[in-house]
Amino acid sequence: MKAFGALLLLSLIYVSSCHESVDSRFDSGSLPRPLLVESRKKVKISEDVALHCNSWRFAVEANNLSPWKTIPRECRDYVDDYMNGKAYKSDLERVSKEAILYARTVELKGDGKDIWVFDVDETLLSNLPYYARHGYGLEIFDDVAFDKWVDKGTAKAIKPSLKLYEELLKLGFKVFLLTGRTERRRDITVENLTKVGFHDWEKLILRGAEDKGKPATQFKSEKRGQMVKQGYRIHGSSGDQWSDLLGSPMSVRSFKLPNPMYYIA
Ligand SMILES: [Mg+2]
Repeated sequence: MKAFGALLLLSLIYVSSCHESVDSRFDSGSLPRPLLVESRKKVKISEDVALHCNSWRFAVEANNLSPWKTIPRECRDYVDDYMNGKAYKSDLERVSKEAILYARTVELKGDGKDIWVFDVDETLLSNLPYYARHGYGLEIFDDVAFDKWVDKGTAKAIKPSLKLYEELLKLGFKVFLLTGRTERRRDITVENLTKVGFHDWEKLILRGAEDKGKPATQFKSEKRGQMVKQGYRIHGSSGDQWSDLLGSPMSVRSFKLPNPMYYIA
């Protein structure tokens, strides 16, 4: 009898657990609830480290740091968290929104000379999968490995920048793309940009042989200088590096996108 009682109890527990496992997949409605899958490891970051890394990131974005080659070791998980969490997306959306608000106030002359300049990497295209495999900027930049990644042509669009890009075209701006990528990567850059939705740019300017070794600020300033000489009016410029935006001539307004993973002088 005792054995029968134990069997009954076990059966009841089994039936109850089956119901629970089925019920837990459903909301009160009839649609299955999506399974929650941890796509990456969650690391607990202490309050002190988070505070320290937050101040460091602020210094990065405000261009207060001396040139730096790698992120602080203790901030690796913080940068991972920032880039893959809601904060990076939210910051990108804010930049895009403010740029759109400004662009709408610009009075275009309608002669095709009102332009906006975009950088490419971490501005229009995201290389986050590459940096995720290289410690989010903890490793010294490896141009050979990075070029291999670029050659895949699989970088995703930075969506808020695509929204700004499309809005600018609609408003009647001409768009110039100015990137530190070299001419050797023109075809794959065009292919990648087109595949993820960027189109109808006026000009894509890459580093030629004559630009080799020039700091980015100098290279990009010279190219902007040529645009101005050709009669273009640079109303806005978007880039994830200060070297995309500073120098002379500058655009009327500059929009700095967040990037705590690397620094380009
Ligand atoms: Mg960039």
